Amino acid sequence: MGPAIGIVGGGQLAWMLAEAAQRRQIALQVQTPSSEDPAVSLAAGVVQAPVRDVAATAELATRCSAISFENEWIDLEGLAPLAAQGVQFVPSLQALQPLVCKRNQRELLQRLNLPSPRWFPLTAAIPPKANAASAGRPAPAAVCPEGFSFPLMAKAATGGYDGKGTAVLQGLDDLAALIARVDPANWIVEEFVAFEQELALVAARDRFGEVVCLPLVQTHQHQQVCDWVLAPVEASHALQQAARNIAASLLTSLDYVGVLSLEFFYGRSGLLINELAPRTHNSGHYSIEASSSSQFDLQLLSVSGERLEEPSLLVPGALMVNLLGFEQRSAEDPAADYSEQRQALSALPEAHLHWYGKRGSSLGRKLGHLTVLLRSSEPEQRRDEAMQRLQQVREIWPLPGETGAG
Ligand code: ADP
Repeated sequence: MGPAIGIVGGGQLAWMLAEAAQRRQIALQVQTPSSEDPAVSLAAGVVQAPVRDVAATAELATRCSAISFENEWIDLEGLAPLAAQGVQFVPSLQALQPLVCKRNQRELLQRLNLPSPRWFPLTAAIPPKANAASAGRPAPAAVCPEGFSFPLMAKAATGGYDGKGTAVLQGLDDLAALIARVDPANWIVEEFVAFEQELALVAARDRFGEVVCLPLVQTHQHQQVCDWVLAPVEASHALQQAARNIAASLLTSLDYVGVLSLEFFYGRSGLLINELAPRTHNSGHYSIEASSSSQFDLQLLSVSGERLEEPSLLVPGALMVNLLGFEQRSAEDPAADYSEQRQALSALPEAHLHWYGKRGSSLGRKLGHLTVLLRSSEPEQRRDEAMQRLQQVREIWPLPGETGAG
């Protein structure tokens, strides 16, 4: 075995990282709360503890030369003393600071003049106290800041994922109800973007400053959760270059080492950055089979301090379909492993099944994904091929809410 690296988190991203680590003879140590978490079975070692347990991360550090993160729910303040003692976090805690919260992200993008939806802090929608006392009129419970109009998209600055922690606001009543329901200091409100497509880009930067990217892909969401990904997206050279330039500006200005994923809206207003994720991403899973190096290889190499090389597609394209829980099944239910569906999915031509081994199923829970390699080199034909393949998958694995089961 070669060098050891640590990862805080033990879900499906850490599981796929552990697979890539095994192939590369890298010992991956994980910090995760349950012995049943996906990554545990493949990891070289486990610190069993919650991901925000700093003492556990200190223990993890004794076993590895560098530590990275599976997700952005990071206790930066808690970990700062470890960094001061010399623990190598990759990306560094400093580079992560503007990325772990959606409000920080919006401020960073504004600072760097990178295109993103216009926004305001929810606190700006609370009417000033002075108004309440004025002219005997009842004070409004919320005001819509100048330059904005409904509908609006509200988001929790921290703790949200897969659409949890977002709310569409249709009018002032919704805005007032939100102010009453949540801590306004932890929420931002954005213009509602009428995008034509959602795109995503996985980028990585090594410690020598080299930036590499996987191809730009299209993502499709169902009820705000990623449903499928088509790689590569049919896009002009200029659009692809714009996305890569944005990624390079961000990574370089943050002196960021590691994998960073960008989600975009694309439409009449051009390219707008929706969200940044300081980690590997659902939109990059297809790269395991379809790319000369996967997003997990890029994370392993950058965290180990190696040089990165530009990945290239090994096939004309790929479709990745998320297998989202379409019903409620308890962990004790023998049918909760969906062996019949898994067999049928694996039997599809050019299909690669990744089953995360989670216990039990609930609506929308990510239980696995399927990558189907595409053979058409002409973009329009490739899209048709992808949609036909999606249909085959749907006949075996329905979307949540499409089974009559809930
Ligand atoms: P999460 O962090 O929960 O994934 P996102 O910010 O990525 O939240 O939002 C989830 C989905 O909601 C997006 O993929 C997009 O489809 C939709 N969405 C988010 N923000 C906006 C917006 N400002 N306008 C329109 N749709 C949006």
